[in-house]
Amino acid sequence: MKYSPEVLVVEDEPAIAELIAVNLRHHGFRTRYAGDGIAAQRELDAVLPDVVLLDWMLPGQSGLLLARKWRADERTKAVPIIILTARGDEADRVTGLDAGADDYVVKPFSTKELLARVRAVLRRRAPELAGGEVHVGALHLDAATHRVRCAERDLKLGPSEFRLLHYFMEHAERVHSRAHLLDKVWGDHVFIEERTVDVHVKRLRAALGTAAGMIETVRGAGYRLTARQ
Ligand code: CA
Repeated sequence: MKYSPEVLVVEDEPAIAELIAVNLRHHGFRTRYAGDGIAAQRELDAVLPDVVLLDWMLPGQSGLLLARKWRADERTKAVPIIILTARGDEADRVTGLDAGADDYVVKPFSTKELLARVRAVLRRRAPELAGGEVHVGALHLDAATHRVRCAERDLKLGPSEFRLLHYFMEHAERVHSRAHLLDKVWGDHVFIEERTVDVHVKRLRAALGTAAGMIETVRGAGYRLTARQ
């Protein structure tokens, strides 16, 4: 069954919150709602959402303060945050990103743009939640069903190998350093040694079997997935 990512909408204007929530649900997301920082904290304490859409201007604690607080907290630090705001100038954008937001959407925004940003953040933080199918050479990956096939043969992959392959497939033919892969596949708030990447690449190659050669080691640079093996 397809997993629907859950979005926590933190917005004090009910009309805007409702508009966002309706659009997200229409596109397969589940939504929860909080009208201020206290309610938002209660929602986060209960269950961690997959993404938080956080309005900057809220009664009580501002979205900026909340983002800083959640980034500093061990439990919530990896939850993707997109800040919503009417403030569009460069300095505010930088302040929002410095506070730990993953992205920044300026009001008024189109729901199409907002959905694209939510999917992009999910793809970076948790590619398996963003949905969609990718093909490279004989490899076929369906993120929604979590299936990977190689020339019609089903492959069994662990969760890290699945995310790694998904990332490679979405960025095929490009060389990625170990540090870059750690950042993109494991998340930049997680501390893992770079050689962990080698371990997962080794496992991934083993799982790929005859297609193992599609993942090339580029000496001194990192790894690349290529259709031209
Ligand atoms: Ca507001």
